Amino acid sequence: MRPVAFDYTAPSSVAEAVQALADGDDDTTVLGGGQSLMPVLRMRMADPSTVVDLSRIPELREVREDGDHLVIGAMVTHHVAAHDPLVAEHAGVLGQAAAAVGDPQIRYRGTIGGALAHADPAGDIGPAVLALDGVIELTGPSGTRSVPAGEFFAGPFTTVRDEGEVLTAIRIPKHTGWGMQYEKFSVVSQSWAIVAVAAVVRVEGGAVAECRLGLSNMGSTPLRASAAESAMTGRSVEASALEEAAALAGEGTEPPEDPAGTPAYRRHLAGVLAGRAVAGAAGLTG
Ligand SMILES: Cc1cc2nc3c(=O)[nH]c(=O)nc-3n(C[C@H](O)[C@H](O)[C@H](O)COP(=O)(O)OP(=O)(O)OC[C@H]3O[C@@H](n4cnc5c(N)ncnc54)[C@H](O)[C@@H]3O)c2cc1C
Repeated sequence: MRPVAFDYTAPSSVAEAVQALADGDDDTTVLGGGQSLMPVLRMRMADPSTVVDLSRIPELREVREDGDHLVIGAMVTHHVAAHDPLVAEHAGVLGQAAAAVGDPQIRYRGTIGGALAHADPAGDIGPAVLALDGVIELTGPSGTRSVPAGEFFAGPFTTVRDEGEVLTAIRIPKHTGWGMQYEKFSVVSQSWAIVAVAAVVRVEGGAVAECRLGLSNMGSTPLRASAAESAMTGRSVEASALEEAAALAGEGTEPPEDPAGTPAYRRHLAGVLAGRAVAGAAGLTG
């Protein structure tokens, strides 16, 4: 089906994009890579009056260093994030999660910022940004504000972004030297996660000094596995000790019930995947 007719604008700066949103009505919408928005338009589940396309704003496509942070432009595609050397060095789990999104065509078009703004609870990017303690930058008519990833997701497909704001970048503290691993379990390859876990671990003296775990599809938003993180801290890097702590990954979560799995199955899966992810991140497995 074809989308309903809409006006289209492709600004060349963030300021122009913000102005275009301010000039539009409530049905004006932003276009990132179009991998979620275009299917919605084609199914006529949305009928925007104006689409503001961000693809011609060069600064949104940059990955750059800013002191002890990495700044990833909102329009950086999953493909670029999966292959970028700065992402690999300082925020590797984001590159791994980006490489796990859909299929190559989707990764060539879909963007990191679009995936976060879309806020699918089964998405791959949210849990990685959460585990990396990322901060989302939003620019609107009154300037730019920074929202920690833990405060960004408000519910399924809902964030705290105001309609007049453009998600411009994700700032990630450099995790140089930390161990990281993304574990995704899906029904068939290249499909959405039944459950996924992003692990970010700092090992010191043979023990886990710091550990952050992001979960996908374990609730209405991406979540941190707080109980497992606490239990993990201080454990010696041995398979049995890590597995015991990882088994708590589903604690406090409310995973969905659907044909792919029951909540109990997903909690079990979260524990297994967290165990694998932390073991890999801590250097126990390849
Ligand atoms: C068949 C298929 C399989 C997929 N599989 C996976 C998967 O396994 N894992 C996964 O995580 N994702 C998957 N996706 C989704 C994919 O990652 C999309 O790229 C992502 O959800 C949205 O990114 P986008 O850049 O295409 O955004 P768009 O589709 O352009 O936009 C999505 C939403 O975000 C808003 N938006 C986009 N960019 C911005 C911005 N910079 N500022 C403000 N608002 C913005 C739009 O207005 C829209 O509401 C899949 C998609 C398809 C079609």
